[in-house]
Amino acid sequence: MFCEACGGRLTTKIPPGDGRLRAVCMACGHIRYDNPKLVVGCIPLAGSRLLLCRRAIEPRYGTWTLPAGFMENGESTAAGAARETLEEAGAQVTDLVPYMLIDVPDVHQVHLFFRATLLDSRFECGDESLEARLFEEDELPWNELSFPTVIATLRQHVRDRASGQFGFHRHTISRSAPAR
Ligand SMILES: [Zn+2]
Repeated sequence: MFCEACGGRLTTKIPPGDGRLRAVCMACGHIRYDNPKLVVGCIPLAGSRLLLCRRAIEPRYGTWTLPAGFMENGESTAAGAARETLEEAGAQVTDLVPYMLIDVPDVHQVHLFFRATLLDSRFECGDESLEARLFEEDELPWNELSFPTVIATLRQHVRDRASGQFGFHRHTISRSAPAR
């Protein structure tokens, strides 16, 4: 690998004053930090129903998911979640409320899901989806969901719907602590 600052060769070492191995340029000393990525998404709601998309891409082709993806530079978390919802489900959302923060340390990610209200009844699947549709909670395709983060978020949502209290939740999903 090469340095993003000068194109020089990178080596792996612990920089002075640091406690971790980093990729450091042998020519200019630039340090390439490798930090977790933020994935943002929505639970798009229409009354008691929520919108899921069926993935047209790998990984987990054909499974159902909440619209979510990597946050882009220069946007807010809420704007990123709304953008992903528009791209994957062709749906416009409003009133985004932070709902679920999930640490996924094994893959160096943090996932943030917002509860959001569908602006109108228009939605259509985007390029990354085979299908988009509204589900009542008792129709959710539990055996065909895409990722542990989506399963954990939907399980929490079902529990909160039963209690009538939607708070803000924090989970960790890892090899030693699977989705619950
Ligand atoms: Zn360099």
